[in-house]
Parts: sequence; structure tokens; C-alpha cells
Amino acid sequence: MCPGCNSLAWDSIVAAGTGSVYSYVLPRHPDFGFEAPHIVALVDLDEGTRFLTNLVDVDPDAIRIGMRVRVRFDEFDGGLVLAMFTSDAS
Ligand SMILES: [Zn+2]
Repeated sequence: MCPGCNSLAWDSIVAAGTGSVYSYVLPRHPDFGFEAPHIVALVDLDEGTRFLTNLVDVDPDAIRIGMRVRVRFDEFDGGLVLAMFTSDAS
């Protein structure tokens, strides 16, 4: 929903898959069902959309707000494919 006018209309754009970390958390519930560390992040895409995702192959101690990240697509059991983000230190 648009935070400005509450519109439910939507559209799509082609995104480069690059952005920066807006915020993140490390849930520490035991037996969470995910491989640790499970880093949940909000990533601001360069095109302007904020994306709820996971950071993968990143040392939790190395994460910084504003850190540059790049998308990758991971496939899970049953063929589910999700957009995850990893460090874009290049
Ligand atoms: Zn609007």
C-alpha cells in the first residue's frame, strides 16, 4: 500500500539488483528453522524501493547501515526461489 495516498495500485520496474542496507536484525530464537546466522534486512534498492530480504554469506559483525549489497537468487526445497542479498564490496 502506498504510504502517501493508501493506493493499492501497483506496477513493476526492472531493477539492477543493487542497493544498500537500511536496517537489519538477527533473530536468535533457538531452533528457528533456518541456518544460522539468519539475517533479516531491509534493503533500499537503487531504484528507490525498500525490500524485505535476507543477507547471506555476510559476517554479521561486518554489516553496516548503508553497506552496499547485490541480489542473488537462491532456490529452496520445492523449487521456491527467493531474492537474497550479499555484500557488493567489488
Ligand atoms: Zn500514492
